[in-house]
Order: sequence, then structure tokens, then C-alpha cells
Amino acid sequence: MRDILESIVNMNEDRINSLKRINKPRMGWISIYTPEEILYAAGITTFRITGERGINTTDANALLSNNYCSYVLSCLSEGIDGVYDFAEGVIFVDACDMRKRLYEAWTRNLKLNYSFFIELPRDINKLSREYYKLQLHNLRKSLETHFDLKISEENLSDAIKTFNKSRKLLQQMYELRKSDFPLISGNDAINIVKASTCGLREEFNEKMDILLKKIEDAQIRTGKLKKHRVMMCGSYFDNSDIIDVIEKTGAILVCEDISNGIKYFEGQINENNEPIDAIADYYLDKATCARMLDINKRFEHLYKLIQEYNVDSVIYFSLKFCDTNLMDYPIIRKKLNEKGIPVLFIEGEQHMTNIESIKTRIQTFLETRMY
Ligand code: SF4
Repeated sequence: MRDILESIVNMNEDRINSLKRINKPRMGWISIYTPEEILYAAGITTFRITGERGINTTDANALLSNNYCSYVLSCLSEGIDGVYDFAEGVIFVDACDMRKRLYEAWTRNLKLNYSFFIELPRDINKLSREYYKLQLHNLRKSLETHFDLKISEENLSDAIKTFNKSRKLLQQMYELRKSDFPLISGNDAINIVKASTCGLREEFNEKMDILLKKIEDAQIRTGKLKKHRVMMCGSYFDNSDIIDVIEKTGAILVCEDISNGIKYFEGQINENNEPIDAIADYYLDKATCARMLDINKRFEHLYKLIQEYNVDSVIYFSLKFCDTNLMDYPIIRKKLNEKGIPVLFIEGEQHMTNIESIKTRIQTFLETRMY
């Protein structure tokens, strides 16, 4: 099992080299609300811009400001450093104000052959649905013009099926983490989700099929002591050091309600509807992100996950200056406390500088609940 798991994790680690080798147009994206299916239907390889290589953000700070979330600053730094020079362009989504400014800074200051900005409604109603659909039709037309091609209904349907397959495989993997003895660690899970965004979609789907069979077989034979089960939620998060700290206490991370976790792959696009309508409905109905208006829907979703994954404690991680998640936290904490769920709030940077103090807080929080 470990071999195939590592080969999926390596897909993520080797993402830039793999993307450079692909002989097709490549397009980066920053928000999980990017309708990748439309790009894929145009023969474009889509990949997530992760900010992982943007450690020194001095130049990005100069174009934006120091008080921007470190994910946005790191993504822009990668752009400035030419990490994605092989790509045709970037798709931006109006997911939060900082990403809007990121779009402006990137397109004004860096060379991009192509960019498209999608305005994502915060409230879901008939009018906003129509508006969002119109934008997806505009994206389709814009790609057809830029690449001089036609995106057929059949192309769109095939793309929806391929992405639905990835979603289903990831959902099956998370389903196995509901067991008392999950064999996938928190870091493995996040790396697998990230691998699904590295542009090698067919290879990812094939490898996941194999991995799932191996986990199912291995899980039948396992029976260790039940661990304290932790869930992570909040801002953009992929900090392996924090996950190591959690799991070294003897607890286990069983679920991540974040963009590198469940939020990326939840649900399915309806394969029987008109493709653009179905894609628009899928992304708009995925209304569990802190940037959406309906906090009750978001909390209900979070609490359902807590019950399904039998979660004992929640860690709410917010990037510094992430207004979206910082504003949400007090309400989420109150609601969680009313349900008797302990929650620890951590504020940090993408490339964490204060890991030692965070480590002490996580250890104290978890150990007082476990022993
Ligand atoms: S972490 Fe927060 S501020 Fe940064 S891009 Fe995401 S939602 Fe926006």
C-alpha cells in the first residue's frame, strides 16, 4: 500500500516538473470555485497554484501590502519568480477581496498570455445563479476565441465525468478515514488531495483506484487502540509540521474541511443536465466556504462532518489577515461550544514562523483532552 500511496504523494511533490513536461496548454487556478471542467474540455491542463515556492514575499509585499494573507502573497511571489512561466495563464475567482487584488497585481505587473476573472456570487438565488451561468458561458467563449477551438457539449460531458470520477475516488478515500483505525494520516490525505490538483488527472484517477483497493484490504486486518480524532477547518492550509505535531500527541487527523480537503471534492456534478448549467449549479451549491453568505449552512455542513467522522476536537486554523475566516470564527466557535465540541484557534502564516508556540498550544489542548 505504501508504494502506491507514495507514488501519488510524489505526483504532488514533483508537480512543477511534471507540468513542464506536459505538451498541452496549462492554466493555473487559485480558488476551488474555478470550473476546471470547462478548461479541461478545451484540452487545457489545469493545476492549482499553491504558493509553496513563494517563501520570500518581499516583492509581492511591495505590489500588494504586508497585511495580506500569506497565501496570496506567496502565490504572487511564485508568479514574480517565474515559477509558472510555462503556463498560458491563470484563472482568478472573486473568492475574497485579497484574491481580487491578486488578480489586479498579477495581470498588471506580470506577463500573462491569458487570464479570466470570474465573479462568484456570495448569496445563492435565482438571479445570482443566472449571473454565474452567464460568466461560465463567457469563459467558454473566451477560451474558444483565445485558443481558436470549439468546446462541444460532448467535450464538456466527458470533462464532467473525469472530474466526477476524481471526486468519487477522493470521497471513497475519506470514507475509509471514518473507521476507528484509519490507515491514512492527515499529511497523506492532504498530499493526496493536492496531487489531484497537479494536472495529471487521468494518472491520478488510475493510481487512486489501486490505492483504495489496497487500503480496504489492509484496513480489514487492522485493530489498534482507538485514537483521539481531530478535524481541521479554516483558511488555506497545508502545513505538514502542524499535522505532525497533532499526530505525535497520539491523536489522529481524520477530516479536513478546507480547500486542500473535503471542500475541493465534495458533491458531484449532475451528468444528466445541460453541462454549463450543471457545472454552475455544482459550484454555487458548494456553499460551505467562509466567503459565502449563509453561515448556518456552513455550520450545518461542519457539524455533519463532525458527527460522520466521529470527531473529538476541532482545530480552526486561520491565516493572518484572512478576514473571511477570522470573521467566521467567533460564530463557529460559539456554535461548536453549544454542541460540546472543543475547538482550538490557531493563527499563522503559510510558511509558518511561529511553529514552536503553536506546537505547545496544540499539545496542551489535545493532551488535556486525551489523558
Ligand atoms: S486564506 Fe483567506 S484571505 Fe487568503 S485567499 Fe483564502 S479566503 Fe482570501
